[in-house]
Amino acid sequence: MTTEGLSRREMCGVVLGGMATAALAGCQHNQELGRSQFIVVPDSLLAQMSLSSWSSLKAQAPISRDRTANAVVSRVGTRIADVSNQGHLDWEFLVIEDRVPNAFVMPGGKVAFHSGILPLMDNEAQVAAVMGHEAGHVAGRHAAERLSQQLAAQGSLMIGAYLASGEMDPELQRIVFAALGAGVTYGLLLPYSRQHEYEADELGLRYMARAGYDPRDAGGFWRNMMQASAGRQRPLEFLSTHPADNNRLAAIETQVPSLLPVYERNRRA
Ligand SMILES: [Zn+2]
Repeated sequence: MTTEGLSRREMCGVVLGGMATAALAGCQHNQELGRSQFIVVPDSLLAQMSLSSWSSLKAQAPISRDRTANAVVSRVGTRIADVSNQGHLDWEFLVIEDRVPNAFVMPGGKVAFHSGILPLMDNEAQVAAVMGHEAGHVAGRHAAERLSQQLAAQGSLMIGAYLASGEMDPELQRIVFAALGAGVTYGLLLPYSRQHEYEADELGLRYMARAGYDPRDAGGFWRNMMQASAGRQRPLEFLSTHPADNNRLAAIETQVPSLLPVYERNRRA
């Protein structure tokens, strides 16, 4: 079964019809986004999957010992998390020693930056642009939605087996890592949809301004990223999971002016 091309209402109908027996189905309203979402993975299960994936990632990944890098990522992360309406989460910010420019977030507020993405940032506001964007994916509950779509598309049987046995089938583990956002090192490459990217940008810009970072710096980061990727045979992974083009940049730049008053109120000297 594929869910592509189905409207949200139809998709919810399919799930209600097809998965109700698993008692997992649901279309839920997300206030931060102002839309309803097709989510079949209960929050408790997602939290459990996310935590176990995050700890196995921390056990495998080389953690950076660069104090400046860790300090800036934690400082920006805390400021963004504080204004993202997700203060109840146990946020963690990690810098992984890896030259490939990348950053990702897992549900529950677990954010990882590769050390290689920092040189592409001109200032702290650009760190905040990525942090805000990643926090936008959390507030947007995009992982729950991605995982729900993947499971609906690739068979809900695997999740049934996981619930029954407590063991993740390797295929399910790859789907979970990918949907949670851990990227190709740990799972499959699963790009965020255009809708998720635009939503995360919009929320991210809002969080930047509220946290006192100049939202005009966001476009600069994406431009740096696109420049670093230009001429490569394959685009950088970060751009594969967070596809960027000129339309996206234009959308970002359209939203910036309305946020400048918010930034002015919250900026720090
Ligand atoms: Zn993204």
